[in-house]
Amino acid sequence: MKDFKNVWIFAEAQRGKLSPTALELLTAGRKLADDLGEKLCAVLLGYQVEHFAKDLFEHGADVVYVCDDKALENYVDDIYAKTLTGMIQAYKPNKFLLPATNMGRSLSAKTAVFVGTGLTADATEVVINKEDGQLHATRPTFGGNLMATITCAHTRPEMCSLRPMSYEKAALQAGRTGEVVKFPFDAAKYTSLAHFIKFIKSEGEGLDLSEAEVIVAGGRGVGKAEGFLLLKKLADRLGGAVAASRAPVDSGWIDYRYQIGLTGRTVKPKLYIACGISGQIQHMAGMSGSDVIVAINKDAEAPMMKVANYAVQGDLYDVIPAMLEALK
Ligand SMILES: Cc1cc2nc3c(=O)[nH]c(=O)nc-3n(C[C@H](O)[C@H](O)[C@H](O)COP(=O)(O)OP(=O)(O)OC[C@H]3O[C@@H](n4cnc5c(N)ncnc54)[C@H](O)[C@@H]3O)c2cc1C
Repeated sequence: MKDFKNVWIFAEAQRGKLSPTALELLTAGRKLADDLGEKLCAVLLGYQVEHFAKDLFEHGADVVYVCDDKALENYVDDIYAKTLTGMIQAYKPNKFLLPATNMGRSLSAKTAVFVGTGLTADATEVVINKEDGQLHATRPTFGGNLMATITCAHTRPEMCSLRPMSYEKAALQAGRTGEVVKFPFDAAKYTSLAHFIKFIKSEGEGLDLSEAEVIVAGGRGVGKAEGFLLLKKLADRLGGAVAASRAPVDSGWIDYRYQIGLTGRTVKPKLYIACGISGQIQHMAGMSGSDVIVAINKDAEAPMMKVANYAVQGDLYDVIPAMLEALK
């Protein structure tokens, strides 16, 4: 295990865009690397992605490993996981952080199996244990009622997927540079039985909840699918996005990709307006980092009303139209 050195982060880049999770992982990884006295390295896989190395250096990476090939243009998990496995076997990282995005969850699990190491999935905090240098990864468990710290004592690298928004993005250090290491793509080895046919953008995907500065979220109190149109009006007026608790998703009023919480997305907007959401712990797990919380609820005793900076007691079908009127 002594052969394994340095902290790696996976810099997700698809369709010409570097994911903001790369900069969050650089923050988490920088602290781990400094505590270990090792280098912080980023991994880029894709096609025409090498230019992102500059952004990664300017946000803290010391080394960027790049595998740039037409075969990696679209994400196919077998091909990506085999390529990543090849890189891990060649360069032997000590710790490896990936984002717990759709891609990262699939890629980290498959890669950990190919490499034969352990993975803590969906962690919210990572630290180095000062005594033995092991990675301690913490994640919510038992429906968010407990936090479990998980270790991987006997194999390397210690892998972990980290929830988006668990760390701030690393600060820009303009002009900072580092070393680029190119890794060749091996078409004979990095194969898959699955083939990419075409990419279909799902409706409404333009709006990225994790980047929205204002979120208007609805809960069971919205009462019906059409109720979300009223929330959308308020969101549009404020330049924000609509989201939901799990109850409306389970009722089929709104798609799962809008769900905030333990089993949904984590968000950190400047303003979170919770309409008809009681504020159960599993919902709070996804939005408690919001700068300002406004709760609209009939029940003054609802937990969301207690944590809110501004609690409006009333029927959301009266309060939201009044807000829209006032915003005119
Ligand atoms: C393992 C596990 C994972 C989970 N993951 C998630 C998750 O990711 N996200 C999530 O949200 N939940 C999650 N849940 C579910 C969670 O426990 C709650 O059941 C859910 O968050 C409740 O949603 P809600 O607040 O919309 O509904 P409720 O708790 O039913 O609250 C509805 C609120 O609306 C108010 N209200 C009703 N009518 C109106 C009106 N006209 N105007 C104003 N207010 C009104 C009521 O007073 C009430 O406070 C999870 C649960 C488990 C066990």
